[in-house]
Amino acid sequence: MRVYTTLRGRFGFQDWWSGDTADEILVGVVLTQQTSWKNVERALTNLKDAGMLSIEKLAVADLKMLERLVKPCGFYRQKAVRIRNISSYILANHKGMTGLLRRRAGALRRELLSLDGVGEETADAVALYAGNKRTFVVDAYTRRIIGRLYGIDTGISYGKMQCLITDNIDNRLAVYKDLHAQFVELGKRFCRTRPLCRTCPLNEGCGSFKLLSER
Ligand code: SF4
Repeated sequence: MRVYTTLRGRFGFQDWWSGDTADEILVGVVLTQQTSWKNVERALTNLKDAGMLSIEKLAVADLKMLERLVKPCGFYRQKAVRIRNISSYILANHKGMTGLLRRRAGALRRELLSLDGVGEETADAVALYAGNKRTFVVDAYTRRIIGRLYGIDTGISYGKMQCLITDNIDNRLAVYKDLHAQFVELGKRFCRTRPLCRTCPLNEGCGSFKLLSER
């Protein structure tokens, strides 16, 4: 929680996805795989402008048109198929996102993970930001930051890394949502592949920085 307080003090509340529909969050989370958020925003704008940003529309979308709309995100053929298949599954089985998100956290996560192209990070991001379930999202930034701060092996399993974090933070949904966003911000601005430790807000308590300083 000290880490969270420091990051929030430096970057401010990130307020991710708060004004967006569950449909938009789902699509955004799938599109963000292996690309930058800037590209996702361009694709989401294309989908919005074309009136396609709903599970009902996406479930029956023409694949070529969908590919064109999501092209800014890269891997656009794969992503277009995934979005259409996931949308049509949700529509057929739950009549839309509201029905799907009524499921309890564990059942929702298992169901999302059973869908093609949905891994743990994607499932947790949908459950957390669209479903308001307390499931912490572990991404590459999280692994890198926690690994450097505490000298923890970044190759540990997704579940272990998730528990390490959730065992040490407040059990509040807002903290789950905002801490993930804060890690992304820190990873982009300071804890990069080549870290900018001297100006990083976490350098005082960082194991990696301490080691570097002692050399
Ligand atoms: S001090 Fe350096 S290694 Fe530690 S969290 Fe900050 S940027 Fe990353």
